[in-house]
Amino acid sequence: MMSYPPLFLRRQEERRLKAGHLWIYSNEIDTSKSPLKQFQAGELVQVYNDRQQYLGIGYINPNTLLAARLLSNQSEEINEYFFQTRIRQALVLRDRIFAKPYYRLIYGESDGLPGLIVDRYGDILVAQITTAGMEKMLPLILAALQSDLKPTHILLRNDSQIRQLEGLTLYTKVASGNDFPTSMTVIENDVPFEIVSESGQKTGWFYDHRDNRARLRRYVKNKKILDVFSYVGGWGIQAAAFGAQSVMCVDSSAQAIQQVLINAALNQVSDKVTTICADAFEALKNLQIENQSFDVIILDPPAFIKKRKDQAAGEAAYQRLNELALNLLQPGGILISASCSLHLGADTLLDLIRRASLKTKQSVKILERGFQGPDHPVHPAIPETAYLKAFYAAT
Ligand code: SAH
Repeated sequence: MMSYPPLFLRRQEERRLKAGHLWIYSNEIDTSKSPLKQFQAGELVQVYNDRQQYLGIGYINPNTLLAARLLSNQSEEINEYFFQTRIRQALVLRDRIFAKPYYRLIYGESDGLPGLIVDRYGDILVAQITTAGMEKMLPLILAALQSDLKPTHILLRNDSQIRQLEGLTLYTKVASGNDFPTSMTVIENDVPFEIVSESGQKTGWFYDHRDNRARLRRYVKNKKILDVFSYVGGWGIQAAAFGAQSVMCVDSSAQAIQQVLINAALNQVSDKVTTICADAFEALKNLQIENQSFDVIILDPPAFIKKRKDQAAGEAAYQRLNELALNLLQPGGILISASCSLHLGADTLLDLIRRASLKTKQSVKILERGFQGPDHPVHPAIPETAYLKAFYAAT
């Protein structure tokens, strides 16, 4: 029989969980009945409301504001079978949507596994753990991934800064398989890419924009494209593969730019692709000084608003970036403006595009809007699981 220590919530503090959310904040815990210091970071707990009504099983970290996350609202053992069941559900869903094994397999809370991300690159899995609770269950997670997917390798990219909040160390480690390959393949929208996972950004690839990149097809044929914050060429190389006349990729990372060139060669579009390794804001200003212009400009920057305190400066940066891009667009051009900042709502991004349009005297109309792809499903009770937006505008 399962038995984990009880965690009692204060009166009425179960409302969020009752609405379907999975998070418990430390001020919602009844610390007289369940003192926080009795718990270890990452320990499993049975959660009850103030009337001893059972709410589910979660894991706790007594040292964080976001103190506990629910794994299940049933009464069940959290063992390898539990993880296998969750992983299988996620796998069946992805395999139904995608023809090839390249996708985000586990997207944390939305797949019922808070604190765990797993990206699949064919036979290679790259995982990221962000909480002490999941770190503690790593052996169970690895065993479940092994038995269900039989990957050749599992890499842990546990080097995200947010781990520090949970008191976890940052590390990258090959958890299973010998001789982890220096490069891996991704195929997205039928376009192959080579990426380096051990030293690339996040797990090596950003699967969230797959459908948004697929939408490029109707805009790029025989056109001049500028891909800003290109990383390894996710947008730009696909544009070239979809028939663009020329593509310029801008990124400040030399390693990313080197991969752009490798991916151009892989897709036999090297003659169309040029690169600029520089700060994007500087590069856009210089392109304007040189009187350059483009038919399609993609802005897919890193999150400028990571915390609430970055809000004003971040919004100003998004607006400035959109202004710089609008100044470089040909009449009748297409601006694709994305943001992965959780704290920048789609309406706000749209408003910043509107402001940029007034400032540059380039009228714009919105043609389409994109979200994160279906391998990043949104949990309806957890707004934090919906973070990505992209607007397609014509001048
Ligand atoms: N568009 C990419 C993902 C972008 S990730 C894709 O589709 O895969 C953000 C990228 O911005 C990273 O590659 C990072 O190196 C780059 N970057 C961050 N700050 C930058 C800056 N100030 N100027 C140019 N590139 C920057």
